[in-house]
Amino acid sequence: MDKHISVAIDGPSGAGKSTIAKMVAKELGFIYVDTGAIYRTVGLYCLRNLIPCKDEQQLANNLSNIHISMQYIDGKQCMFLNGEDVSKEIRLPEVSIAASDVSSLPVCRNFLLDMQRKFAEEYNVIMDGRDIGTVVLPKADVKIFLTSSAEVRANRRLLELQEKGVSTTYEEVLKDIEYRDYQDSHRPIAPLKQAEDAILVDTSNRTLEKSFDMVCSIIATKLL
Ligand code: C5P
Repeated sequence: MDKHISVAIDGPSGAGKSTIAKMVAKELGFIYVDTGAIYRTVGLYCLRNLIPCKDEQQLANNLSNIHISMQYIDGKQCMFLNGEDVSKEIRLPEVSIAASDVSSLPVCRNFLLDMQRKFAEEYNVIMDGRDIGTVVLPKADVKIFLTSSAEVRANRRLLELQEKGVSTTYEEVLKDIEYRDYQDSHRPIAPLKQAEDAILVDTSNRTLEKSFDMVCSIIATKLL
């Protein structure tokens, strides 16, 4: 089997991982895999079916009813839940919280692990998430930990949501980010943390272009 190249980008919500990863994927001709979208799809299933998002037993009992697939349509990653395109709905703020809740359950993480690894076996990927460099692809060719202050992230996320027509406030977005930061980094399984061999990039005081250049030069140096 051919060896494919994998680039892992981890970090907290709103650090710019997906924007930068998409730009890098385009530049390198790699497939961009947004793993948060997969957790969001499980979170949406729970919300729709009134399954409490932290109830491991109930989720385990329902796993056989959850069929998630990913398709690239016009170069964009689309998420399908039992055949329905839910790509838009999974971006709602309540689904962010549900995703963070279900993602702390080992049964959920194990359920989604193979799906993520398969992509890296089949394609050259740039994959973003929380545990890509530590758990999903511990042997990734390049590992980057992208972060910035919670306030900067909240401002960026607010703009993003407003552009998508989602009505919310700075305070609400900051609260959501702080809730998820805490829960994602304190869960016992696959917590958000920088892998020992990951390179830290702080985007707080950098423009998108500067952050992108920095990530590209790290990748180029590692892959040389
Ligand atoms: O990246 P995004 O904000 O879309 O992720 C939604 C939630 O999914 C995160 O808050 C996190 O709890 C969870 N997640 C995770 N592991 C990943 C990707 C996302 O636990 N690899």
